Amino acid sequence: MALFKQMENQDESKNAEDVNGDVEKVKLLIIGSGPAGYTAAIYAARANLNPVMYEGMEPGGQLTTTTDVENYPGYPGGIKGPEMMEDFKKQAERFGTDVRFGLATAADLSKQPYTITIDEKKKIEADALIIATGASAKYLGLESEDKFKGMGVSACATCDGFFYKNQDVAVVGGGDTAAEEALYLAGICKKVYLIHRRDELRASKIMQKRIMNTENIEVQWESRTKEVLGDEEGVTGVRLVKNNGEEYTIDVMGFFVAIGHKPNSDIFKDYLDMDEVGYINTEAGSSKTNLDGVFACGDVQDSTYRQAVTAAGSGCKAALDAERYLSAKEVDENE
Ligand code: NAP
Repeated sequence: MALFKQMENQDESKNAEDVNGDVEKVKLLIIGSGPAGYTAAIYAARANLNPVMYEGMEPGGQLTTTTDVENYPGYPGGIKGPEMMEDFKKQAERFGTDVRFGLATAADLSKQPYTITIDEKKKIEADALIIATGASAKYLGLESEDKFKGMGVSACATCDGFFYKNQDVAVVGGGDTAAEEALYLAGICKKVYLIHRRDELRASKIMQKRIMNTENIEVQWESRTKEVLGDEEGVTGVRLVKNNGEEYTIDVMGFFVAIGHKPNSDIFKDYLDMDEVGYINTEAGSSKTNLDGVFACGDVQDSTYRQAVTAAGSGCKAALDAERYLSAKEVDENE
């Protein structure tokens, strides 16, 4: 089943070297369109690599689900996440990136050129590949949570915490991410409820200690979220249920879900070295994976920083690495 309609420009193949039946040959394929993918595209296009980019399931990436971005340098007044990604896209296209709507649904990296299947149908052969497929925040899966996404429900305290200055908020989760988010929010908000389903945190000992030593963090032990409450203005509270069945409500304006991220790397798992969660391993200080000509950037290879600006920086590295790889390959082939 094709998940997405092909865009008109997909058939034009302006950066394709050769079209042979259903298989299209390109020099550089970029998969994913967050800050990492677009930055890679800007650099690669300016280096005349004629990049072709597939935007993926969520064109623009995770930033398109946030409201104001106030921590990206160069925007003193802040900017809306979707607007910023639209600007990234325009800049990538300005230099000739062939940006297409479509999802990479399979990969064959067993031999070069590498083959990527788009929307379970179209096949692209690429001399070099930049993987910028990002990671997706996990949510609880409640209907009420979905309803208030962007209106008080968030999966990124660094992005959205500031909007709850001096207000009460809740964080769900018991790992290092939840602890980090709670500590970050504790510096901004009046009170932070940390909602955890067990009687001990999974977070590292040092983070646990910091949580316990922070006065305005209150852990709601052995509690699960039953419903996110709100009105037309946004979140107003959370209905919780204790493991013993007792129900209670806390009043909060922000509800931060921090139960982990899932890197979007499934289609590469037979070929690329990854950690146990699926984050792609890259060589220290570069975007190189264990395969020649395959580079990874952004959140799909970064479980630590996960910021737009760090993703953009790593996208730049991936384009420079790809350029060096393709130039060396060309020299070898001409010898
Ligand atoms: P994690 O370690 O997998 O923790 C996820 C937390 O969410 C767990 O406490 C889990 O509860 C809870 N959870 C999962 N599903 C839930 C659900 N449906 N309802 C309620 N609670 C749920 O994920 P993470 O905190 O994102 O960390 C991922 C990795 O990155 C870890 O290795 C972590 O150490 C690392 N990390 C490191 C740093 C740092 O060093 N500064 C910062 C962030 C992350 P249970 O405990 O009951 O399973």
